[in-house]
Amino acid sequence: MYDHRPIGWFLRRAWWLSVLAVFFVVSQVSLGQAARAAPVVLGVRTGEQPTATRFVLDLSEAIEFKVFVLPNPYRVVIDLPEVDWQVEPSADIGQGLIRNFRFGLFEAGTSRVVLDVDGPVKVQRSFLLPPNGAFPHRFVLDIAPVSAEDFTTVAGLPPPPPLQARTPARAPKRKGSDLRPMIVLDPGHGGIDPGTVGASGTLEKKITLRIAKELKRQLLDSGRYRVLLTRDKDVFVRLGRRVEIARDAGAALFMSLHADSIKNRRVRGAAVYTLSETASDAEAAALAAKENKSDIIAGLHIEGESSEVTTILIDLARRETMNLSAEFASLLVPEIRRNGRVLSNDHRVAGFAVLKAPDVPSILVEMGYLSNRKDEKLLLSRAYQRRISAAMVRAIDRYFRETKR
Ligand SMILES: [Zn+2]
Repeated sequence: MYDHRPIGWFLRRAWWLSVLAVFFVVSQVSLGQAARAAPVVLGVRTGEQPTATRFVLDLSEAIEFKVFVLPNPYRVVIDLPEVDWQVEPSADIGQGLIRNFRFGLFEAGTSRVVLDVDGPVKVQRSFLLPPNGAFPHRFVLDIAPVSAEDFTTVAGLPPPPPLQARTPARAPKRKGSDLRPMIVLDPGHGGIDPGTVGASGTLEKKITLRIAKELKRQLLDSGRYRVLLTRDKDVFVRLGRRVEIARDAGAALFMSLHADSIKNRRVRGAAVYTLSETASDAEAAALAAKENKSDIIAGLHIEGESSEVTTILIDLARRETMNLSAEFASLLVPEIRRNGRVLSNDHRVAGFAVLKAPDVPSILVEMGYLSNRKDEKLLLSRAYQRRISAAMVRAIDRYFRETKR
């Protein structure tokens, strides 16, 4: 018997089979990638040697690395592929020349360690050791002191990505025909910059991300806004980039979320900040200086950028933006007060780098003090995260009702 099926039938069948085969191969490859775990950092040690301070990372496998040193303040930076940190940050690591260190995701694909060092240093040696007895793979770094004159940053140090040229004012971009206001939420810190550390160890970067996600959920649920987060995972984002994200999105409002800490552990309450060239008080100035350090903490070389970050040009567009920022702050403070404690001088001003978009009304909220155990417990609780988010939504609603008028 002849097969009477037309040739087209066979071609179609072959085509579908090849589509299935390609799909199968692609899915296997992506499964393979997902299954391949990131290298793990298992431990961190420092030690003093006669002529050097040694810094060691215990690793699950050999990895590539890059080491460079930075001035102002003196730091040693170790860049690694994206790794899984299975070590807890420890306070008593400071030995020899190393005063402090931190680690975390710097950007997708790159994890980073930053060592704060006592003075100018040079990298004597940096190398990998294969497993030996009880020891796994290790990354070893030896640093030694040098004079300030002999201090040189490693040649070929990557410059920080340039920030977009500032334009005085820009019409907000609209995505298609969606005319709902765009709210950009900025969870403070992230990745290698943990922010402040709470009375019982809570990291500011975790609190800010959790509340930003809750606030985003509530804003989207209202159906009245579009919402964008400057980060949605535990990754570092430089301050200038956060401002760029808000401007590029045509944000109608930018809210940077933080939690503070202070020596006096009894101090509690939230505070709302807006931008000003001169700070309202010494504490606000100190707070802005602290929050502005994020890029330094993350091991960025920010020389030559300082003029841009420190000077604020007051033009008409910016004046309007600052008035709107102050108006939003004045609506936000009473809403937060209804839900909890607010510092007595509740709306303060200072030179926060993250509030410097000339055309986006911007505020920074310190939602409480992680140095105070009650505030720390509140900020960690889901119920309070929902409550403070709801307070912020009410203030945002009022702001858009009143500015529309
Ligand atoms: Zn902060």
